[in-house]
Amino acid sequence: MIVLGIESSCDETGVALVQTGGQPVPALLAHALHSQIEMHQAYGGVVPELASRDHIRRVLPLAQQVLDEAGRTVADIDVVAYTRGPGLAGALLVGAGVACAMGAALGKPVLGVHHLEGHLLSPFLSADPPEFPFVALLVSGGHTQLMQVDGVGRYTLLGETIDDAAGEAFDKSAKLLGLGYPGGPALSKLAQQGDPAAFKLPRPLLHSGDLDFSFAGLKTAVLTQTHKLADQMQARKADLAASTEAAIVDVLVKKSMMALDASGLQRIVVAGGVGANRRLRAQLNAACAKRGVRVHYPELALCTDNGAMIALAAAMRLQSGVQEAVADYAFDVRPRWPLQDIHA
Ligand code: ATP
Ligand code: MG
Ligand code: FE
Repeated sequence: MIVLGIESSCDETGVALVQTGGQPVPALLAHALHSQIEMHQAYGGVVPELASRDHIRRVLPLAQQVLDEAGRTVADIDVVAYTRGPGLAGALLVGAGVACAMGAALGKPVLGVHHLEGHLLSPFLSADPPEFPFVALLVSGGHTQLMQVDGVGRYTLLGETIDDAAGEAFDKSAKLLGLGYPGGPALSKLAQQGDPAAFKLPRPLLHSGDLDFSFAGLKTAVLTQTHKLADQMQARKADLAASTEAAIVDVLVKKSMMALDASGLQRIVVAGGVGANRRLRAQLNAACAKRGVRVHYPELALCTDNGAMIALAAAMRLQSGVQEAVADYAFDVRPRWPLQDIHA
């Protein structure tokens, strides 16, 4: 079975083809991505209307590109999958509309996928795929959650952020340091030249005893530091970046270890854009090695949004029988959609 997947929840248009068959994990035949980051940079953040319009321009050429790369035609597609939510309503509608139009034109069933389930399952496309069950640390631009994952579609929330997401903390701090948008990768790069112990920044909820996170206070602490530093700011920028990154990573690693303890599981999977962070990977690797716990990541290119994870999630849902694709083209999208409500 060949699944075409379309991702358009925010500022990247992604399209991919995966194939299910003999092997336990569906195979990625081809994927293509267009990032709108440059277009939104001038505005310091994503402009929803511009995002929707650009998805319209990109999605069909990208679909043609993956079909060409895989040496297939539209006639080979068995199921068309798309991101149903969460995300920007207008942006989601583009992917959903195109997917359902394709399905109707080809007479093939369609399937709406949860964007976070895509992130969560993306490590299955890596060279070292995990096995169920595992703890998942989902760290993206809009979400920070610890989940227990017992199988496809079997997700239990263990803890989550009560305010900003980890990616948001990176991006907002980066903005305060004048590093542009989205500043996470830039802050992380600058941090490599700085001293992570230079500034004492708060580790919110580190000792709360539960698995929740809070990052809003950290951003305020970074703002206070930038004011205190005043004209020394340029000289100390790398130190402040390194200290900010260390604060975020310390909390993520500590709570991940607590989630392993609470669940009794021996495996952890990291997913979402912040999963590309080098310090997070290094510290998690060290903490997991110490406990003899296996840790899995998506390929670096598949940490942030992409079509491959959407096609994969659809294929895994179909393969495991938790969902069927249907020839019903009356689509809707769910801009707000908690992963725990996936069955609703
Ligand atoms: P969501 O998936 O919650 O809807 P999103 O799709 O915007 O949000 P992703 O695409 O998964 O999020 O990830 C983007 C986020 O990852 C941004 O906040 C970005 O700054 C952050 N990020 C990417 N690379 C790094 C890095 N190396 N270090 C820290 N943060 C990073
Ligand atoms: Mg993005
Ligand atoms: Fe995402």
